[in-house]
Amino acid sequence: MRIFCIGRNYAEHIEELNNERPGEPVIFTKPDTALLRPGEAFYYPDFSQDIHHEVEIVLKINKMGKNIDARFASKYYDELAVGIDFTARDLQSKLKAKGLPWDLAKGFDGSAPVSAFVPKSQFADIKNLTFGLNVNGEERQRGNTSMMLWDFDAQIAFLSRFFTLRQGDLLFTGTPAGVAAVQVGDRLSAFIEGETHLEFSVK
Ligand code: MG
Repeated sequence: MRIFCIGRNYAEHIEELNNERPGEPVIFTKPDTALLRPGEAFYYPDFSQDIHHEVEIVLKINKMGKNIDARFASKYYDELAVGIDFTARDLQSKLKAKGLPWDLAKGFDGSAPVSAFVPKSQFADIKNLTFGLNVNGEERQRGNTSMMLWDFDAQIAFLSRFFTLRQGDLLFTGTPAGVAAVQVGDRLSAFIEGETHLEFSVK
């Protein structure tokens, strides 16, 4: 199982980090050891003083595919979840400044909490899905999938030109604005359409 992620997929998030708007999707991966399953706590790592939350919709690939046409991409996922792309922003800033890969800042243990998956058919329109994150009961992030620069199907079409997608692979689809640091003791709660799907503490 691989965890693919897209960066810089919401215009307002690109602006808050003063990043350039990309001409093509920005892709990175996390190892499967990054996965934090429902019910597990996130342990703040000792190599960073600036861990940021990035709430994202996560797709689960349901069959193998290569060079998938965007018109047929929706047949390659039928479940989605909400997850957090935890990012060691201090490490990432150093790596970015040197033009180095982001792996250490993005792929560390526990950096990918993901809720239980639910059938996409449960939602009226996944191209217009509101999701977000509360920290200690206060809303920190709220986005809508209609605001993505590359929608789910365009992401799958792009990714599958480079990587054969396999059943069980996950795809983090980008974060809206509002990313910020978490602290030990914080309680995070991620929602889709107002309903909490993922809840855990930072320890
Ligand atoms: Mg992200």
